[in-house]
Amino acid sequence: MSTCEQDNQRNPLLDDLAMAEKLSKINQIIVVLSGKGGVGKSTVAVNLALSLALRGHKTGLMDVDIHGPSVPKLLNLTDKWPEVKGEDIIPVEYQSDLLKVMSMGFLLQGTEQAVIWRGPLKYGMIKDFIGRVQWGDLDYLVVDCPPGTGDEPLSVAQFLKGKAKAVIVTTPQHVATIDVEKCITFCKQLELPMVGVIENMSGFVCPQCGTTVNIFSKGGGETLAVQYGIPFLGSIPLDPDIAQSGDEERP
Ligand code: ADP
Repeated sequence: MSTCEQDNQRNPLLDDLAMAEKLSKINQIIVVLSGKGGVGKSTVAVNLALSLALRGHKTGLMDVDIHGPSVPKLLNLTDKWPEVKGEDIIPVEYQSDLLKVMSMGFLLQGTEQAVIWRGPLKYGMIKDFIGRVQWGDLDYLVVDCPPGTGDEPLSVAQFLKGKAKAVIVTTPQHVATIDVEKCITFCKQLELPMVGVIENMSGFVCPQCGTTVNIFSKGGGETLAVQYGIPFLGSIPLDPDIAQSGDEERP
């Protein structure tokens, strides 16, 4: 049954109750946002979730990037399919029960499939990802949003209001930080507290001579954090191993 058909039959009050019940079992929610695509937001979200899980925290990872879900690929889970039990969806498990994962990518038949959806359908899907997925008791739920400030981050911010905090990922160059300023304004307007800014692809250390080359400039994320009074969480260098591990589905 398509989400569209389901929407016609559903009771919004029951949906809200289901969401409240699921959310009551989740301690902390971290929404990973970026102003631009390709800055490493999904890489940060996946590795953040895994780091938390490996430290013994019960962790879930929810990928609400409907048009370009990369989480299944980054975790080598592209052949997995979430089970449906009655009204509930069982999230896909990464490495037994290390990490619970839900992504639109699991619902697409092949990586070349495109999703053409307007706002209300996206809204319904995100509601399902929160209210129908059996996340169980979690210490952390990490949410990977698509870039920008469109329907998906808006729905996430509204549904998770008072519960979630944002981590903003940028690359250092001005063309990326301009868009991050929009992200910061978005968080302020929607009263989504910000944990801080991460500057990714910040400098490249040449493996041959050890010289640092600032391919995308340097310090743009930190400057922005200082300017807006948000914590600067740190920088991640441009590292061929990170790109390779992503391509090899080995976070
Ligand atoms: P986004 O989610 O912002 O679109 P991704 O996380 O999909 O970005 O990353 C885009 C590409 O950049 C991927 O191929 C990823 O492996 C690579 N990448 C991300 N961060 C780094 C980094 N610090 N060094 C090298 N490659 C990176």
